[in-house]
Amino acid sequence: MSIDKFTSKNKNVGGVTVARLLPQAKRRTIGAWCFLDHVRFDDNDASMQVGAHPHTNLQTFTWMLAGEIRHQDSLGHHQLIRPGQVNLMTAGTGDTHGISHTEHTPEGVQRLHAVQLWIALPASQNIPPSFHHYPKLPEWSENGIDYILTTGSYGGYTAPTLQYSPLVGVDIRIRNTQTFNIPVLPNWEYGLLVISGSLKTEDGIRYGTDELAVLTDCTSNEQPVRIHAEAGTHLMLLGGEPLQQPVFMWWNFIGDSRDTLRRAVADWNSGHPRFGKIDLSGTTLQRIPAPEMP
Ligand code: MN
Repeated sequence: MSIDKFTSKNKNVGGVTVARLLPQAKRRTIGAWCFLDHVRFDDNDASMQVGAHPHTNLQTFTWMLAGEIRHQDSLGHHQLIRPGQVNLMTAGTGDTHGISHTEHTPEGVQRLHAVQLWIALPASQNIPPSFHHYPKLPEWSENGIDYILTTGSYGGYTAPTLQYSPLVGVDIRIRNTQTFNIPVLPNWEYGLLVISGSLKTEDGIRYGTDELAVLTDCTSNEQPVRIHAEAGTHLMLLGGEPLQQPVFMWWNFIGDSRDTLRRAVADWNSGHPRFGKIDLSGTTLQRIPAPEMP
């Protein structure tokens, strides 16, 4: 197994500074996880306001830790997401499917803490758009560590979250300073995001907030990974089977070719019905045009 360290870049999303961990120049994906932002603010004047925008060939996955986000999409869903809950929006696959949505912090909500992810959909499957809200997920405690399973199977538990390729996502909070095991599956890829606190991997490398340890080349006789973490450390473990397809990305679109991305840009900007409609009346949110591809 090899372990590589990645650091974050600051990006602006809907008026909020986020720490972006994926994609990286040298690590595009972890399993089908292809986009990873850690969002956190507790400033009384801040708010996140993301206007109507489309997605293709991916799922958006929101893991809420504090505050609230209101979601509205072109399938007609209105959903408030609260801490401990997952929102999963599936854009569908191919050049005919798509979805659009808005996301904003409601008035009066003055803090936000979330992990925002994208999952690339398998291009070989014909997947329709959908939206799912998971208000309650499996949680358990073991040896002074609190676990919440956001998707997949781990520790003998299985989450109800819809998947199109084998994935896992686990929220891990370590109460007392200790060394503990993370079991790994052969050929899977894993990422450990430090949300807060610090950990040390077997090779003695220390990771702090907004740093990502990526574990690859797990073999069939692999021992569990030993992680040392300080008391109060909060992690998110992501994992999955490596993708068997190219992942091209432009703006909010994913595709298996540049032509697919170019078509998505043209379709969104010309108001193609594949992306549906969202009623923005009574909000200050705008429709966001797609930037043209070079
Ligand atoms: Mn989005």
